[in-house]
Amino acid sequence: MTKSKIALVTGGSRGLGREMALNISKKDIDVIITYNSDQQSANTVVAEIEKSGRKAKAFQLDTSNTKGFEDFFKRTSAYLTAEYGSPNFDFLINNAGTGLHQPFSETNEDQFDEMLNIHFKGVYFLTQKALLYINNDSSIINISSGLTRFSFPGSSAYASMKGAIEVFTRYLAKELGSRKIKANVVAPGAIATDFGGGTNRDDQEKRQIIANITALGKVGEAEDIGGIVAFLCTDEARWINGQRIEVSGGMLL
Ligand code: NDP
Repeated sequence: MTKSKIALVTGGSRGLGREMALNISKKDIDVIITYNSDQQSANTVVAEIEKSGRKAKAFQLDTSNTKGFEDFFKRTSAYLTAEYGSPNFDFLINNAGTGLHQPFSETNEDQFDEMLNIHFKGVYFLTQKALLYINNDSSIINISSGLTRFSFPGSSAYASMKGAIEVFTRYLAKELGSRKIKANVVAPGAIATDFGGGTNRDDQEKRQIIANITALGKVGEAEDIGGIVAFLCTDEARWINGQRIEVSGGMLL
């Protein structure tokens, strides 16, 4: 019997991460998800994956706090070793994150640091720690945003960190190639989730504006993103490396 592949999805309890976890499990890959505060939603995702016959487990992790990363990997290693006989896994999906809508002139240092810690510093050092456990011939997928290609007022701090992640991903691809570890960015357009106060889902005026600037004429759904991340975890995607894949239905083409 071949050994199961295992994916670690941060922020897998809700929104895009939830859809990534569910879609990855449909590729016959076991899944570890993390949540920050919403354990109940995380448990629901785990139960749904287990119902379909794959293994899944949820762990608490604040990705903005690098001091917690060692303990996090201790907990995941203990679980993986008990379940699979090895602490290693195959796919790291850096997805967890929150938004910030604030004009540049009013963005304060605390808000900037929050964006920095969640979207850049946390991803950078979680990935560094993960190198001890991620198998060779594996894959890292970092979630960016359409906002690195096009600009809307109010996203300077958030989008700058996502831009940093895109540069970081190219360096990962370059430096980890010798281990056959691939690194790619998935950059979603506007998607209807809880993100940013849920405005892409609930604010009808905003939804109409997004629809008008999107070639496919609507706001994206979480299901529009999960499958592409799952695809990047398959053997068919083995030659995609160091790329930014925008998944936006053609926003602002
Ligand atoms: P949601 O708000 O729906 O879900 C956010 C997820 O991240 C939850 O699982 C949440 O955990 C987790 N999370 C939030 N803060 C932290 C933290 N400090 N530490 C660990 N986990 C945390 O957002 P989306 O699913 O929409 O967004 C996911 C990613 O996609 C983000 O990186 C976002 O920047 C990006 N993105 C989103 C777009 C959109 O329009 N929705 C567009 C482009 C990119 P918990 O449930 O415990 O709170």
